[in-house]
Amino acid sequence: MAVQGRDPVPELPEVETVRAGLAAKLLGRRLAHVELRRKDLRVPFPSGFAKRLEGRRLIDAGRRGKYLLLTFDDETVLLAHLGMSGRMVLHQGPPEKPKLHEHVAFRFDDDVSVAFSDPRRFGLMLLTTVAEAPQHPLLAAMGPEPLGPDFHAAYLAEEFSGKRAPLKNALMDQRVVAGLGNIYVCEALYRAGLSPDRAAESVRPRAIAGLVAAVRAVLTDAIAAGGSSLRDYVQASGELGYFQDRWSVYGREGERCPGCKPGARCRVQRVTQGGRSTFFCPRRQR
Ligand SMILES: [Zn+2]
Repeated sequence: MAVQGRDPVPELPEVETVRAGLAAKLLGRRLAHVELRRKDLRVPFPSGFAKRLEGRRLIDAGRRGKYLLLTFDDETVLLAHLGMSGRMVLHQGPPEKPKLHEHVAFRFDDDVSVAFSDPRRFGLMLLTTVAEAPQHPLLAAMGPEPLGPDFHAAYLAEEFSGKRAPLKNALMDQRVVAGLGNIYVCEALYRAGLSPDRAAESVRPRAIAGLVAAVRAVLTDAIAAGGSSLRDYVQASGELGYFQDRWSVYGREGERCPGCKPGARCRVQRVTQGGRSTFFCPRRQR
């Protein structure tokens, strides 16, 4: 799907959907073979990558922010990021000829395999361990999970205090809250009725509470939509779905604003902030 010239990038709900799909199909299975078809994605694969994973059984499929953490029975953790365009493509049956952009293939027992397809190669696959993962440089400074207990109004008020950066930038900062990107920040700000370019420090406590609720709601809705599309994801094309039908403003420049009365003739607007498109309603969002 193309959204006005630019494909959407996986965020927390998409990664969560991938996690659930992999868990449903692969948990408890032994990884029989890893085939690397190139040396690197965004960075080189770790040395001994295939050797460290082959023969191990997958015992957990977790997620932190936009990262997948696949844990094997020797406590090795495969830390993976889908990047800009990464897809996990599940396949059941004898191995097929690799498709273009499928840079890695993991073949599990019973002829279940997953290929990582990544045309733009911004994806990432590294190895760590259960003990070391929390201190891993990519994870250590990450803020709380937005659907977890540590993301609440008092926390966010503290983070916003003295912060002159635009609200949108503050929410996209993974140190403030994990897993949000352009799509769900736009959606959450729309739902909360907050302007993306006002200073983070200017948001009052009550509005911050509303923002926390809005972030949780847009993510929960998207994950639920992902769950309902999971069957297709696992069995048919094997491709990650996006939940664009559910987006109120993202990718909808010029369309009728769904939250304003039809009589208001309100249209979704787009501006560029920090090189990224922001979609919003100037009437609802202050
Ligand atoms: Zn509107």
